[in-house]
Amino acid sequence: MSFLMDTYKRLPVSFVYGKGVYLYDDKGKAYLDLVGGVAVNVLGHSDEDLINALCEQTRKLWHVSNLYQNPWQEEVAKLLVERFWTSAKVFFCNSGAEANEGAIKLVRRFFWEKGEKRYRIITFKNGFHGRTFGAMSATAQEKIHTGFEPLLEGFDYAEFNNIESVKRLLKKETAGIMLEVIQGEGGINEADVEFLQEVQEICKREGILLIVDEVQTGVGRTGRFYAYEHYGIEPDIITLAKGLGGGFPIGCVLAKEEIAQAFKPGSHGSTFGGNPLACACAKVVIEKVSKLLDHVEQVGQYFKERLSTFGKVKGKGLMLGLERNENCQEVVLKALERGLLINCTSERVIRFVPPLIIQKQHVDFAIDILKDIL
Ligand SMILES: *Cc1c(COP(=O)(O)O)cnc(C)c1O
Repeated sequence: MSFLMDTYKRLPVSFVYGKGVYLYDDKGKAYLDLVGGVAVNVLGHSDEDLINALCEQTRKLWHVSNLYQNPWQEEVAKLLVERFWTSAKVFFCNSGAEANEGAIKLVRRFFWEKGEKRYRIITFKNGFHGRTFGAMSATAQEKIHTGFEPLLEGFDYAEFNNIESVKRLLKKETAGIMLEVIQGEGGINEADVEFLQEVQEICKREGILLIVDEVQTGVGRTGRFYAYEHYGIEPDIITLAKGLGGGFPIGCVLAKEEIAQAFKPGSHGSTFGGNPLACACAKVVIEKVSKLLDHVEQVGQYFKERLSTFGKVKGKGLMLGLERNENCQEVVLKALERGLLINCTSERVIRFVPPLIIQKQHVDFAIDILKDIL
């Protein structure tokens, strides 16, 4: 009997301790963690620098609200903007869904300020943007909507990697196009370079905004700090969360300055967003991940090559998906027994989003187990 709502299919294991890329259960058994809390624990478990930064901050100040100056947010925002372009601004929140809610509100507010009646956003089938009403409505997956209608008005769903389907949905009310450059929950589906560049062109031509949801792909996951950098595009707004705090909840919306200015005092807010504890973690994460990018690219490439003996592998850096012809939940359970944590997404894709600190020897260990199981 559990006192928890039945919202998750939880695996029959419970962890008590983590170090580096390993988790340990209540019987002391070790597991190689290739899930990383779903692309969250970018520095692995119990990273000393993260622990020190968080502990130091817990002794000084936990929370002050956003009624006062927040130097911790300033520092993190500066680091994020430096890796983006010079004139951008950041809003901090606590999760991916919240970051996307903020982005959707910013898009509407931007056009409202200009006196244009644009509010619709084109999103993509099999995309995922979160579970709150706006983010869920932006998510073009029926199973996410079931039983929750009516949804928030104003989203049009196009086919991923199909530019004609985007053009067909353009309306005079269209305000933006929102996408993940690699769809995470949708099964590690990569966007084509030409597709993204055409999307960018459409946005420029129509005077609408390009919003890239980097909640899963961002913070070094793909071997670049932001995954859009692989594609030669320049988003107007990006959202981050998952890996940003290395396990401490924090998310943000980052927007070009001329768009960010649409938010005025009172137009949006969050009680906890960017609190000192979260920012102390994010600062360490950004600094350390920025030095790991080449490593992510190299280990990712090695991992991808080794996985390809089992079938089609999709993704970039350490965001990889192995396509299977059957439901892969069985594989996840067998791997668990052998001390390997992997995840199944979109039913037929085995997803690997490990801590960015994994080494080739960990990849080899995982491949040996997968060889037995597959
Ligand atoms: C996980 C995810 C979200 C939702 O993030 P939460 O923190 O669970 O609200 C949004 N967008 C993408 C691309 C994600 O992978």
